[in-house]
Amino acid sequence: MQLNLEIFSPVHQIKNQLFDEQGIKVFLKRDDLIHPIISGNKWRKLKYILKQAQIENKTHLVTFGGAYSNHLLATAAAAAKFGFKATGIVRGEEVNNDTLFLCRLHGMNLLFTDRESYRDKPTLFNKYFCNDNNAFFIDEGGSSAEGAKGCSELIDELTDTYDHIFCACGTGTTAAGIINGIQQHKLNTQFNAVPVFKNGDFIREEIDKFLTTSVDYQLHTDYHFGGYGKTDERLIKFIKQFVADTGILIEPVYTGKMLYAIYDLAAKNYFKPDSKVLAIHSGGIWGLLGMKDKF
Ligand SMILES: *Cc1c(COP(=O)(O)O)cnc(C)c1O
Repeated sequence: MQLNLEIFSPVHQIKNQLFDEQGIKVFLKRDDLIHPIISGNKWRKLKYILKQAQIENKTHLVTFGGAYSNHLLATAAAAAKFGFKATGIVRGEEVNNDTLFLCRLHGMNLLFTDRESYRDKPTLFNKYFCNDNNAFFIDEGGSSAEGAKGCSELIDELTDTYDHIFCACGTGTTAAGIINGIQQHKLNTQFNAVPVFKNGDFIREEIDKFLTTSVDYQLHTDYHFGGYGKTDERLIKFIKQFVADTGILIEPVYTGKMLYAIYDLAAKNYFKPDSKVLAIHSGGIWGLLGMKDKF
């Protein structure tokens, strides 16, 4: 089975009075359009992980995530599409929600585990699958050097150059891949990471783990809105306005926070006039379904 998924991820300009006033141009790379389920960075991260599984003749993907994990869902859909069996080990007691419904619909088997055991993923993997020669371990969020390699290919696709590239950070794998891509192409582009967690400084260590050369980049740690999955009225209002103005769906966990950061930084004169800014829409819009009550 060929692991090919044609990448459709155009770059769209986001027009806005604020950007005009600042004399800057802002673009969005539409990784959300890569696939309806295996969206955004999750496909980029899985690509070389699945290739490795194939090389090792493994036919059963085993991975980990919270009950709303975009990575679990992407893995479920990729497994179905490319002919793997899949198991998702889910943190916390058994629940059902829209994400897990879609995981099951794609044939993923779900195992729920208490939060304490969840911390040690290799031990969990061995507990359930030590006798399954076909089982292949994929870390939470697809965090890996293979994942970073897949994400670096985003830069290969660019036909224009940018002064800034922004993306939202969870594990930091996507950020590391993009930074490596910028280095490989010797671009004069500042990379800006927006951690979606509180006290996001720790992400620097996670990003640096997967960098091929050590380089400087910018962390914007003030856009977590209270922490992972947390929102407030400002963020929700911003998202509603953005979607209504552009016709592009975004969600509050990742892309919403990253775009909010760009608008806020623009209003604070962060960007030099004539700057070109590229934001990465990393997908994940199914996550909206679990957050309807916030809107
Ligand atoms: C998982 C995810 C991220 C975070 O990617 P990392 O590589 O873990 O930093 C960003 N955006 C969306 C939509 C995601 O689903």
